[in-house]
Amino acid sequence: MLKLNVICPHCHGKDVVRRGISSLKLSSKQVYFCKTCRKKFSTGGLAYKTYSPAVIVAALNQYNLGDTLEETARHVNRRFKVKVSKSTVHLWLHEFADLGNYHRIRDEVLSKFGKDIVVSKEFEHHGLNYNFKYHRGKLGWLGPEFSGLVRYIKAFEQGAPDYSQQDERPSQLRIELKVNFETSYNQACKTVLLCCFSHSPSRLNGTGQTGIKKGRWALSR
Ligand SMILES: [Zn+2]
Repeated sequence: MLKLNVICPHCHGKDVVRRGISSLKLSSKQVYFCKTCRKKFSTGGLAYKTYSPAVIVAALNQYNLGDTLEETARHVNRRFKVKVSKSTVHLWLHEFADLGNYHRIRDEVLSKFGKDIVVSKEFEHHGLNYNFKYHRGKLGWLGPEFSGLVRYIKAFEQGAPDYSQQDERPSQLRIELKVNFETSYNQACKTVLLCCFSHSPSRLNGTGQTGIKKGRWALSR
């Protein structure tokens, strides 16, 4: 019999056979059956999903903004006219935990700010409307090296800075920024980049912590 070069995602067994084609809303996909653990699976990222990436990303975002699983499901169902269940949202949270690290601070941010996480402010400048937003949890997470930036961003809550004297639009303002490559500022930048993009939490805070275990955060609230 033809040996398939497919490994079972559940038990990593190699004794796998084809078991039909699944038709989903967005694609059809080869289904496999693992003879070792007797589970079915199909391969390849988002391609086997019933729902589009837009729905999944919207659900992850909504949950991160403090909604419960039920509220998240309701939100995407209304917005995309789909029928996602709360358990599906729960599965996505686990499945896509590696997409970002925000889940590590979600609970902390929620307990600090409630659902009042994103500050949104509309203002007009030279006849143009601006929609200014920032994330209180993420901004609050920046270290003291960024206190100037934090102050600058928070000042927008009071309205746009007065640029009328320079008669320049904000996009044309030049801000002088000097970076000494061995400064703590530079080190802080690296830390932020690592925290945003690295999947290795132990490298981030220097404590050797292995980060939040999968499953803990998704079940809270
Ligand atoms: Zn298996």
